[in-house]
Amino acid sequence: MSNDYLRAEGVLEGSVVSLAGPAGDPLDWDGGGTFQATMYLSEEMLRRGWKARGAFDEEKAWIMAAEKDKSRRPCHLVVDCDVVVAGSGAGGSVAASVLAEAGMRVAVIEKSSWQPARTLPREEAHGFRTMYERSGFLTTDDGGVGILAGATLGGGTTINWGASWRTPEHIRKEWSETYGCADFANDVFDTAVEQVCERMGVRDSGFSFGPADQVFMDALERMGCQAGPMPRNCQAPAGECSQFCAFGCPSGHKRDAPSTWLADACRHRAVCFTEAFAVRIVTRPRVSPSGQRAREVVGLLVEHRPWPAAVAGSGGPEPAFRIFFRCDKVFAANGAIGTPALLLRSGVEGNGHVGKHLKLHPAQVVWGQFGDDFRSYRAGSRSSDGDNVVKSGMDAPVSAGLLSVKDMSPRYATLRDIEDLACPNGQSVRSNSAAPEGAGRVGMWSGTMFSAFSVEVAQWGREDNHGPMMAVPVGHPGIIAALLPWTSPAQHRLAMSRLDRTALFLVYQRDRGEGSVTLDDNGQPSVQYWPCLEDRRDMTRAMILGLKSLVASGAERIGTLTQSNESECVLRGDGARDVNQYLANVARFGVQYLRTPVLSAHQMGSARMGGDPAQSVFDPNGESWEVKGLFVSDTSAFPSATGANPMVTAMALAHMVATKAAKESSLQKFTKNC
Ligand SMILES: Cc1cc2nc3c(=O)[nH]c(=O)nc-3n(C[C@H](O)[C@H](O)[C@H](O)COP(=O)(O)OP(=O)(O)OC[C@H]3O[C@@H](n4cnc5c(N)ncnc54)[C@H](O)[C@@H]3O)c2cc1C
Repeated sequence: MSNDYLRAEGVLEGSVVSLAGPAGDPLDWDGGGTFQATMYLSEEMLRRGWKARGAFDEEKAWIMAAEKDKSRRPCHLVVDCDVVVAGSGAGGSVAASVLAEAGMRVAVIEKSSWQPARTLPREEAHGFRTMYERSGFLTTDDGGVGILAGATLGGGTTINWGASWRTPEHIRKEWSETYGCADFANDVFDTAVEQVCERMGVRDSGFSFGPADQVFMDALERMGCQAGPMPRNCQAPAGECSQFCAFGCPSGHKRDAPSTWLADACRHRAVCFTEAFAVRIVTRPRVSPSGQRAREVVGLLVEHRPWPAAVAGSGGPEPAFRIFFRCDKVFAANGAIGTPALLLRSGVEGNGHVGKHLKLHPAQVVWGQFGDDFRSYRAGSRSSDGDNVVKSGMDAPVSAGLLSVKDMSPRYATLRDIEDLACPNGQSVRSNSAAPEGAGRVGMWSGTMFSAFSVEVAQWGREDNHGPMMAVPVGHPGIIAALLPWTSPAQHRLAMSRLDRTALFLVYQRDRGEGSVTLDDNGQPSVQYWPCLEDRRDMTRAMILGLKSLVASGAERIGTLTQSNESECVLRGDGARDVNQYLANVARFGVQYLRTPVLSAHQMGSARMGGDPAQSVFDPNGESWEVKGLFVSDTSAFPSATGANPMVTAMALAHMVATKAAKESSLQKFTKNC
């Protein structure tokens, strides 16, 4: 286990307070639990030098009046602090660290639980149940899109795949010029990005590709396409990836939020509250509002909801233990699904833009199965330090030191180009030159995962800059079983029995289209989204490129996720079909509503920042146009989709917003004292 991680874990052990009670000795909710919980939490707060007290009747009445609480349920504890950060993920953790370091007393509120590395499940079903939103997939209302989002201390950073892209230049330009947020294009954001990448240990060399990523790179290169090493925040020595980053990194080598920003925040006296659900931001009218903001923050109402029982959305057993965090600043960082829900529960409307403009980077997977004559790659037989040098960011070279993203325009393939490419003959190219090791094995679960990417079909630096990236997804058997088409028990059994010789290629689209987040009857988020026609066309284009490159690598069977007898094509032996005919069918069929499962792991834009109060929820400094003291620090604030994986952008945005808010706050204190 990495020493950095062990040090961070030591800090967190003293700073994470579970509202469920001490580990191994949970509070007894059925018999006098409220009193017991109040005593336990008051003592925990006192031990850390915080002020907390039971809510007296008078105070209860005031809190209930302020929040117009129709349920009239009592609030049990009042805690005073300077700022509450609701959500402990990519954005929340960074905001907490910056604010705590600036001397503020910070409470981090996380609805789920903390699992130290040594207690991580390392088991797919348990991992999904305890570390993911809705214990697996949160789906859109119609079931058309399956959304993966982390729900654990550290949010998505704890369970994500470690890709760490600096915000592409064309996105920064767009956010500045089209959305009126000038600082994204200047050195204010540069500084934030660099500080984030430094703390996260982002690197694009020093690791070796996993065998499946080598299949991907070679497959694309066989097609004459760009592929390169993914920038990552994992410090594992070459060949030592744990393969479990989707359920927390058991070796502690991935620099997730708990091991970096949250530990830093706690070193500066922040406290993380877990199994603590942010119910509502409490506001009151301002005495003398000047300009836009007629209301101001007075605190955040939080409920204990047992995790993971609360994921189903029912809100957990009654009566919930409630804490009022009294403060004049709240940072909303519940992620792009949770933040609009929190704002809507709090009566923040953002001129009708709260919950609108949701972006998902809709994704597809294509797959290829290899036969015994496929000569497998050894983990690490190709490394990121080889001839493929990548620097993330639009102006940097992306492949082989020869090709920059700018240079890619002549090679950008349109659907017509891809359709016109003669499909390579699998027979003649199926043996690759790497050393054999276990005939036919692709090695999906060995070596460094998610370590290669391609922007061949993306339109970075061109036209409207939309279009998909491609990579090799991290997939474990349970999720793959759920996604593979089921046309018959025999077909599904065969596909699953051949997983160790299957390569999966992921396609994720920078979406032009958008969806929305609304509240259901329980006050929980519900999501509406389906990719628009142009986005579906782009995804199909990349799927075809992926399928062709799998043919070029010698796959003996290729397919998509579409629920249809036509979803796969046998290329050799019994049942072999004409591959060009099959690809024409895939192009024609495209991504079909409720027949092709669309996936998402990147939610963004549902409470966007912008320069125009009529078109955005938060101003360019990240403060609400409506409520003074309400800030945003997560992916919901993105003015549009990033195209590249969003974690570093969310962190840099949070860094920028929190740094400005801390400066403004100390300036106000200074002026007051003068
Ligand atoms: C499987 C997977 C793989 C990914 N891989 C990558 C990758 O390789 N690179 C990359 O850049 N991005 C990746 N992402 C996306 C990335 O992790 C997210 O974009 C990022 O974490 C979002 O940051 P955030 O701050 O907006 O929200 P999150 O990190 O999701 O944090 C939000 C937190 O708020 C909590 N919360 C929600 N509602 C409440 C409430 N009412 N009260 C209290 N707490 C609440 C949630 O439990 C969660 O912990 C991946 C995501 C997934 C799911």
